[in-house]
Amino acid sequence: IIKIEKLHKQFGTNVVLNGFDLELHKGENLVVMGKSGSGKSVMIKCIIGLEDYQGGSIKVADKEISELDRKELDELRTDIGFLFQGSALYDSMSVRENLEFPLRRHPKKIGKLDDTTPLVLEALESVGLAHAIDLMPNELSGGMKRRIALARTLILKPTIILYDEPTTGLDPITSKEIILLMQSIQQKYNTSSIIITHDVDCAKAIANRMILLIDGKNYAEGTFESLQAATDPKIKAFFK
Ligand code: ATP
Ligand code: MG
Repeated sequence: IIKIEKLHKQFGTNVVLNGFDLELHKGENLVVMGKSGSGKSVMIKCIIGLEDYQGGSIKVADKEISELDRKELDELRTDIGFLFQGSALYDSMSVRENLEFPLRRHPKKIGKLDDTTPLVLEALESVGLAHAIDLMPNELSGGMKRRIALARTLILKPTIILYDEPTTGLDPITSKEIILLMQSIQQKYNTSSIIITHDVDCAKAIANRMILLIDGKNYAEGTFESLQAATDPKIKAFFK
């Protein structure tokens, strides 16, 4: 349902992606690993039209992203959930208001619903935090913030979720909780996902397939086990 071919992206003279290919199949959890600065976040931003690209093609459900107008792009974004790196919440808004934000931006998706509470509660229940609905972000732990950000990603019931480092900066136990949550979300909402991570445990737990992004390209591709068993030193470096 996502197909990237020969993607080329540069900022000025800084070539970030140069012939990157990726295909996400329905129901799949595709993990992308790559060094810091290799262009993982940029690639994901290209998919949802937050960054343009200079060459190649990105198709979501057979539509070329660079050819969509604002309205079409907005529509697409209701269908693709995006968990930002760092998963920043709006600090001046309560949990409820943070979750209502995407609903207000995409009123068509919810129809003429005046009371958004049931939708907010449903999303919060999916991450086990319904009781936090009236708290402010500064009253939440790091792990709770991440789960609330995840709930905000879920509120428009996307069919695709792009996770940018969902477990980075969390302790091992909280990371494990987030991974379990991602798995339960996939079962409940039947989503397909691209997961960017540095976290080998996360990749192992969740990946149906993996891509290693090196030098702007998909350097290697395969199951976690096949890549972990590789002898190529560039690949081995990821599993240390
Ligand atoms: P990390 O693992 O640290 O998150 P990453 O693989 O996600 O790294 P990106 O954020 O995709 O890396 O950045 C890739 C490259 O693109 C970097 O060299 C970065 O400096 C550059 N870059 C990213 N965004 C911009 C921008 N808006 N303007 C100019 N350069 C940018
Ligand atoms: Mg990044």
